[in-house]
Amino acid sequence: MILDGKKIALAILEDLKHKITKNSVRPGLHFILVGNDFASEKYVMRKEKMCNHLGIRSTVKRMPQLALEKDILSEIEKSNMDPLIDGILVQTPLPGHLNTKNILSKIDPNKDVDGLHPQNVGKMAIGDFSGFIPCTPKGILTLMEKYHIDPQGKHVVIVGRSNLVGKPLAILLMQNRPNGNATVTITHSHTPNLSYFTKQADILIVAIGKARFIKKEMIKPGTVIIDVGINRENSNIVGDVDFENVLPLVKAITPVPGGVGPMTIASLMENTYESFLRRN
Ligand code: NAP
Repeated sequence: MILDGKKIALAILEDLKHKITKNSVRPGLHFILVGNDFASEKYVMRKEKMCNHLGIRSTVKRMPQLALEKDILSEIEKSNMDPLIDGILVQTPLPGHLNTKNILSKIDPNKDVDGLHPQNVGKMAIGDFSGFIPCTPKGILTLMEKYHIDPQGKHVVIVGRSNLVGKPLAILLMQNRPNGNATVTITHSHTPNLSYFTKQADILIVAIGKARFIKKEMIKPGTVIIDVGINRENSNIVGDVDFENVLPLVKAITPVPGGVGPMTIASLMENTYESFLRRN
């Protein structure tokens, strides 16, 4: 079974558009884009386009590659105070001279629609879901739910422990709540004999950024695979999983593109609308 993120995301977005356009007051999402990273430019453009489609007012503050941290913090402060802005997204990765943790922690947690503020991450860790859930993990859980893939009682193995994907996913999947109750193993670049772990997975989630890294020899038959990776290979985009070769073995798998990516954008739009509702 192919887990069609594009189709599920489209349904979520059309429903959101319907709700948003019913109101004369519109949600506002503000992007802060620092530097000239090609992929970041593209991601922000894609998100802006989606905002326009849904009727969300989007604004972008572009700042130079060598922007000073104090100028970014003052832009965040201004956006925190702006009543027309419901969500603030600082596009990462930021240029190396900037302290990403410090910058993200200055966003008003009530406008942190990316769900990366320490307060929102902390809430999630203690099982309080009144904050915002990071978009990629949220999108993955929604996708699994829509396809009736219940992680309860399953062994979920996550490859990659980033703050953006691996860690929050592990936190969410281990919670005692619906779409949780999994036994979670998290692996990373210092895990010896990775295959030993990946072969035990009922559900394998891979977020490492290495094209076609997970081979068919590394999984057991009947695994559900969620491939988060986005890698450029010649002029194509491929995932972290060797899709064509694992396909005959798996129970279900997300394609790249068209799997987790669209679900991430849909979750960002959902979080923005949620913030708008809470603030109004
Ligand atoms: P990241 O911050 O670079 O983290 C990568 C993680 O992978 C690290 O924890 C690293 O381990 C681990 N890793 C690297 N090589 C490994 C190996 N050989 N074996 C086991 N673990 C290994 O990346 P990220 O932000 O999580 O993103 C990962 C991928 O997902 C990228 O391709 C990114 O573009 C993509 N992504 C996609 C979406 C989407 O919406 N589809 C959203 C976010 C990210 P260490 O911690 O030990 O270094």
